[in-house]
Amino acid sequence: MQCPSCGNALSEVAAAGVKSHACAGGCGGLWLRILEVRKLRERLPGQGAPLLFVERAEGVRLFRNPEHPCPHCQTTLLYRHCFSRKQEIEIDQCSKCGGYWIDPGRLGKLGDTKLDEEKKKELAREFFAELFDQRVKNMNLVNHDTLESAKEVVRIFRFITPVAYATATPPLELD
Ligand SMILES: [Zn+2]
Ligand SMILES: [Zn+2]
Repeated sequence: MQCPSCGNALSEVAAAGVKSHACAGGCGGLWLRILEVRKLRERLPGQGAPLLFVERAEGVRLFRNPEHPCPHCQTTLLYRHCFSRKQEIEIDQCSKCGGYWIDPGRLGKLGDTKLDEEKKKELAREFFAELFDQRVKNMNLVNHDTLESAKEVVRIFRFITPVAYATATPPLELD
């Protein structure tokens, strides 16, 4: 399976029994099949941190156009839920298989051992202020399908973010 953002080969990484195909040694993006995302209702926040902390290469060239093919279905294009150039976030979903492509962007810097704790907390605050208050809130939360996707996005980020940095309140109730 190939990374839809940088073309690197994806490798399987698992955390707390949730499997992901990660762009390890490339851009650090994550592919999650819908079956794996559904498991997240039964997982605790932060258990998926190993997925966030996969190795990233410096200076990877990303294709930031909105048309990425699904790594699984290949011919289907992913639907873009969220994108932020500033936070380098990209959250796409396949309309056919339901899988998610997540580029956690700047949040990946939480794994940088050279950054001090205060800087990491500040970085996470800025990241979630944008992801939750601007992006997730602007997803069409009155549409049932989009509301479900918004909840799944929040569950994914709760899962991969170490609890020490998960200080923001999501703009919707999880069930
Ligand atoms: Zn990649
Ligand atoms: Zn697909």
